[in-house]
Amino acid sequence: MSCIFCKIVNGELPSRKAYESDNVLAFHDITPQAPVHVIIVPKKHIDTMNEVETGKDDAVVAELFQAARQIARELGIAESGYRLVNNCNEDSGMEVSHLHIHILGGRKLGTIVS
Ligand code: 5GP
Repeated sequence: MSCIFCKIVNGELPSRKAYESDNVLAFHDITPQAPVHVIIVPKKHIDTMNEVETGKDDAVVAELFQAARQIARELGIAESGYRLVNNCNEDSGMEVSHLHIHILGGRKLGTIVS
C-alpha cells in the first residue's frame, strides 16, 4: 500500500492532527501555503472525487465539510474567512490520489485560479 495519506491514516507516517473521527482525519499540510493549511481526508481510500459513490459515500463526504467547519472555528479562521480546495486529477495539479479537501486561511488569499 503506497498511498501517503493511507499511511498517515494508519499511523505509519507521522502527522500533526487537526481533527479525527471514526471516518475522517485532518492534519496540517507538510508544506503549508497559508498560516492555516489543513488536509481533510476520508480514512477509507477513495482515489478522487470521480470515484465517490452516490449512496455509499455520501455520509463521509458530508463529514469532510463538517470537519472543515469545526477546524475553521477551532483554528480561528471561521470569521476572517477561508477557502476549501479539492483537486482532481492531472490538470488540477493533484499530487496525492486520495480524496482530500484543503482548508486554507489565516491570510488574504489570492486568485482562485492560476
Ligand atoms: P494535492 O495537490 O494532491 O491536492 O495536495 C496534496 C497536499 O498534500 C500538498 O499540499 C502536500 O504538501 C501535502 N502532502 C504531501 N505529502 C504529505 C505528507 O507526507 N504529510 C503531510 N502532512 N502533507 C503532505
